[in-house]
Amino acid sequence: LRVLGIETSCDDTAAAVVTSSGRILGEANLHQHAVHAPHGGIVPGLAANHHLRNLPLAIRSALDQSGLLLTDLDCIAVTRGPGLPASLSVGVAGGKALAAAHSMPLVGVHHMEAHALMARMSNAHVRFPFLCLLVSGGHTMSLVAHAVNEYSVLGSTLDDSVGEAFDKVARELQLPWVDAQDGGGAGPALERIARQGDPSRFPLPVPMDKSASARLLDFSFSGLKAHVRRLRETHAFDPCVAQDQADMAAAFQHAAARHLAKKTRLAFARAGQMGVAPTCLVVSGGVASNLAVRRALEEVARENNVGMACPEPRLCTDNGVMIAWAGVERMRVGLLDPYTIDFIQRWPLDELRRMGYERRA
Ligand code: ATP
Ligand code: FE
Repeated sequence: LRVLGIETSCDDTAAAVVTSSGRILGEANLHQHAVHAPHGGIVPGLAANHHLRNLPLAIRSALDQSGLLLTDLDCIAVTRGPGLPASLSVGVAGGKALAAAHSMPLVGVHHMEAHALMARMSNAHVRFPFLCLLVSGGHTMSLVAHAVNEYSVLGSTLDDSVGEAFDKVARELQLPWVDAQDGGGAGPALERIARQGDPSRFPLPVPMDKSASARLLDFSFSGLKAHVRRLRETHAFDPCVAQDQADMAAAFQHAAARHLAKKTRLAFARAGQMGVAPTCLVVSGGVASNLAVRRALEEVARENNVGMACPEPRLCTDNGVMIAWAGVERMRVGLLDPYTIDFIQRWPLDELRRMGYERRA
């Protein structure tokens, strides 16, 4: 199979051509970072305008690299949600029009399913069921992937995502914001400086240590960030002193990694109670490239006698390859969609299995 994937759920316009053996034949990712930066956040109308302009360029570029014609493809996969309505509608309209014009199969993709399935493209040993931890700028969640289209979300963040927490704490530490090309956000800068730090000098409480059982598997990061801010405001540390900066960065990273590890341990236990024996722990999202986080999670995987798999960093963040790959996975099991599908702004991942799907002959 050869699938064209289209992603426009947020501020990146991405397209890619991927084969069912996991070869990337072409890919393009047009960032809008510079467009939104002066506004201090993503402006939906501006994002949609840029998708309108960039989507044909991204598709053309991915196809050119692949050396294929549209008619050589077997399927068009497009992100259907969740995301910004104005952004999603550009990709969905484009993908549907291309597929319909060429009478090609269409797959509408759940963005988070695509993140979760990505690890299967390059790691043959990632088989269902697996436990998955998504740690990005927009999400922090643990889930069981039972099969394509079948997920149980176990826990998610009650406030900030872990990536946001890294970014906000980096701001408290007056660290530079790194460009999207560098993995995005300020997390990489914080990780770099934390290497010179002593995590025990400013011990931070691990969040939700005594949370009620209903929230046992959920995450919380806003308290950690507030704690760091309080320490700065009370001059417990000085972000202009290099050693203070490094020690605080190390303390935060340590607490965040421990929180993620602890919740992942509980997620393994919950999976067990559900009668699920995960074959592997998949960790994806921008924060998955953090070595301290990785090490903490590797230990949890080891305790549960499974391996850990992370897609390579550039495939952990939003891209067209993951959408094309999700298209491969869904098409293989016959999950095709009609040309009438619309975008879905809010779309809990658990709902996929309840929605079922429409098979097309
Ligand atoms: P989503 O995919 O959920 O919509 P996003 O696209 O913003 O969100 P990603 O691109 O997956 O998220 O991840 C970006 C986040 O990852 C940023 O918050 C960034 O600080 C963080 N990050 C990237 N590299 C590292 C690192 N080495 N250590 C810690 N955090 C990191
Ligand atoms: Fe994403």
